[in-house]
Amino acid sequence: MAIKEARREELKAVYAQARACERCPELARTRTQVVFGAGNADADLMFVGEAPGAREDEQGIPFVGAAGKLLDELLAEVGLARADVFIGNVLRCRPPGNRDPLPVEIENCSEYLLRTVELIEPRVICTLGNFATKLLRADPTGISRLHGQAEIRVIGSRAVRLYPLFHPAAALYTRSLLDTLQADFRRLPELLALELPEQPQRVEATPAGPGPEAVSEPESPAEDGGPTEGQMGLF
Ligand code: URA
Repeated sequence: MAIKEARREELKAVYAQARACERCPELARTRTQVVFGAGNADADLMFVGEAPGAREDEQGIPFVGAAGKLLDELLAEVGLARADVFIGNVLRCRPPGNRDPLPVEIENCSEYLLRTVELIEPRVICTLGNFATKLLRADPTGISRLHGQAEIRVIGSRAVRLYPLFHPAAALYTRSLLDTLQADFRRLPELLALELPEQPQRVEATPAGPGPEAVSEPESPAEDGGPTEGQMGLF
């Protein structure tokens, strides 16, 4: 099987696992569906937001509400479309009432994000807002201090250019933040054109079992044989 095709199949398998996930009992009980992430499985550019809202929970696709519309506009301004990028979130389930993600929920869900990054192999990851930035930098420094400053970070097994940005929802109602976000977006083509950062040495899984970051099998696999590419919004 071609590498690209194998990657899509593995991505769908991780989605099938996430779809059956009940690690966060409250979220599993209150969600309409798991919002795994959507876009181009071979993207060089990946965005990581916070968590699905009401519209995303309904449709199963990230960033389909007002913040998503702004994200589409920002992408278009630099000549990109959703079909060029992959969009995910720190959490795959909507927190009730759009409350902030809890630390335990972020921890529970981070394995799916890391697996997604490993499979998509992006060159640049834009963290949108504080939750994604703090998680992927493993540091509490806030977005106001970090936005627009790219740095090389190892995420899972992948060295990427991490590029923190303000969350589009924050820029919806504050003109100065929108100006900053647009200016930060304008640097994306230049970042994408840079050489791929040197990659860490791969540690092969031993025959005895999967590595520590492998996603475990769901207790009850999806009954219908897994998600379709349409459900994942895969391009
Ligand atoms: N805000 C997010 O952080 N993620 C979404 O998917 C939608 C809005």
